[in-house]
Amino acid sequence: MDFGKDYSLTIGGAAVTTATTVDVINPATGLAFAKAPRAGAEELDCAVEAAKRAFPEWKKLGWAARRDALIAAARAIEPHAENFARLFVQEQGRPYDMAKDEIDLGAHWIKAVARQDLDDEIVEDSAARRVVVRHEPLGVIAAIVPWNFPFLLAIWKIAPALVAGNTMVLKPSPFTPLCTLKLAELWRDILPPGVFNVVSGGDELGPMMTAHPGFAKISFTGSTATGKRVMESAARDLKRITLELGGNDAAIIMPDVDVSKVAQQLFFGAFYNSAQICIATKRMYIHEDIYDELRDALHALAKASVVGDGAEQGVMFGPIQNKPQFERVKALIDGARDQGLVLLEGRNVPDNGGYFVPLTLVDNPPETAPVVTQEAFGPVLPLLKFSDVDDVIARANASEYGLAGAVWSRDVDAAVEIANRLETGTVWINENLQNGPHIPFAGAKQSGFGVENGKEGLREYTWPRTVFIPKSAKV
Ligand code: NAD
Repeated sequence: MDFGKDYSLTIGGAAVTTATTVDVINPATGLAFAKAPRAGAEELDCAVEAAKRAFPEWKKLGWAARRDALIAAARAIEPHAENFARLFVQEQGRPYDMAKDEIDLGAHWIKAVARQDLDDEIVEDSAARRVVVRHEPLGVIAAIVPWNFPFLLAIWKIAPALVAGNTMVLKPSPFTPLCTLKLAELWRDILPPGVFNVVSGGDELGPMMTAHPGFAKISFTGSTATGKRVMESAARDLKRITLELGGNDAAIIMPDVDVSKVAQQLFFGAFYNSAQICIATKRMYIHEDIYDELRDALHALAKASVVGDGAEQGVMFGPIQNKPQFERVKALIDGARDQGLVLLEGRNVPDNGGYFVPLTLVDNPPETAPVVTQEAFGPVLPLLKFSDVDDVIARANASEYGLAGAVWSRDVDAAVEIANRLETGTVWINENLQNGPHIPFAGAKQSGFGVENGKEGLREYTWPRTVFIPKSAKV
């Protein structure tokens, strides 16, 4: 496949170009380097129609044949992983090795999800009858994806939706459309026409999708504010929804940890991908006995970290992915500075028009500071001191979000007790950022609605048909 500069929509297995385009900016330079198609109502209608036409045959194929098709699709990525990763760095900004990790993980994820299935469930087997619950595909799925993990988060939707027998129209973020457009191009000859369609466009395309009557379900990953708009729009014709939304995750660090052993992992749990991760640690609660030691260790790591263009050797952290997000993160940091909070910065960053922010720690700000209460989604991390376990649990839970959290302690039983009291969909003990194709992922409170991954995630792409089968035909 050609990784040149031409990008087209994939609709019904064919390339479609559009009259107008959207500039794609390299966040390490602030300059446009490619043009993505700008789909409008007409292209969206065509994509939905193509997906509708493909649905009956794809559904009829059955789990085993669909699994084989998806495994072939995953294998097709592998020889192109380096090309995908290079393009990923240009549009998303992350260092090459980490970009390549996401591509490799995406291919692995498809295979792992494709190997799952949903068996019929027999919920009654009596003298009179058998009652069987079957898992039927929903129809055409709208998938809407953000810019922070543009490849993997698309695959979190594609793999379960397709293996369960649905067809799809996927919309990448206007900031990071290119790898997804190339993925669909790669699969034009691998998946039956219309099973997987990709439309890129501007800000207007997302609302057009959620309002489109042709979709049976919307699977959305993005901010909580947009998630609420998606839910409102879906309500008009009761489309099914899965929403994976924002977070303000707390990590609680107990006094018995060995700071020299945990500092690095805690640091990467907060700053990986320049902290643009929904499940990054966004508030770090450190017991007062080890506060100074851990703060200084984290500050030393920040000062040693190289922030720069992800295409350059030795860079560990790339830019913020887009200008609006860059402005939001800068405003949060400037606000903290204006409030007189103590900022502990990492190294200087390039000053070349790219969206770079130095890795920044905030030394024990008040709980009410915006840098604590808001989801930063960028490299500014508040370090907060605590002395009492009940108090720190209350502070960790005092958030409208409930995505993930972590507890760090040598006493695993005590850590589990604390974990059980955190109001989050995922809780880790002595680790962070972990998930897997077999592990359900769901946000509590305003961090989400529904589940991705695992059997629970797969089930969300089906509806239950309950069939009563008599033991004898008495009619
Ligand atoms: P966003 O909500 O601005 O955009 C997400 C997607 O929705 C984009 O494709 C965008 O074009 C589209 N969109 C925008 N307005 C829309 C509308 N009215 N209707 C339908 N679609 C619309 O989010 P973002 O800035 O791209 O991503 C960052 C956010 O995503 C953060 O809050 C982060 O925590 C969250 N996130 C959550 C998860 C998770 O799994 N819980 C994973 C990654 C990111």
